[in-house]
Amino acid sequence: MLFAALDRRAYDPGMAIDLEQLAIVHYPHDVLRQMAAPIAEVTDEIKSVAAKMIELMHQAPGVGLAAPQVGLPWRMFVANPTGEAGDDRVYINPQLSGAAGGSAARDEGCLSLPGITVEVTRPTEITIRAINLEGEAFEDSGDDLIARIWQHEYDHLDGVLIIDKMSPMDRMANRRAIKELEEAK
Ligand code: ZN
Repeated sequence: MLFAALDRRAYDPGMAIDLEQLAIVHYPHDVLRQMAAPIAEVTDEIKSVAAKMIELMHQAPGVGLAAPQVGLPWRMFVANPTGEAGDDRVYINPQLSGAAGGSAARDEGCLSLPGITVEVTRPTEITIRAINLEGEAFEDSGDDLIARIWQHEYDHLDGVLIIDKMSPMDRMANRRAIKELEEAK
């Protein structure tokens, strides 16, 4: 059931989504901690939401945005490592596999965690399988930035945030920014 896991404070499943109301939500919004639900079918609504997410990603600007970050606990994210319009990609019900190439530690930010940077260690190469907006399954392999984006956005679908991966030093460096977000809720 597509809407079973929706956060009612973020979205009433009885109502159509108002695209104009979709906006990036910040930690500690509850939807960011939910396990997102698979998308049963690529409907016109899903396509409209994906287009709006791409728009919000570019506006931010960012290189990736997951549906929970706009208040919708759906297994979908968008990514664009270059910022060029032709490089927009949509990944529905993604699965990651084939981690390779060793691991690398890089600073990551998150549109739902403004002002916060965390050094995250991730595999440098990964394979993704997902559904596109035509409802077709596809597979892609990537390394470096795109591999990192896929893993970061995938984490969002499981309710995982970069602040879960902080070293003691990152925890200290980000303490004030996290507290300010928590107090702004
Ligand atoms: Zn993020």
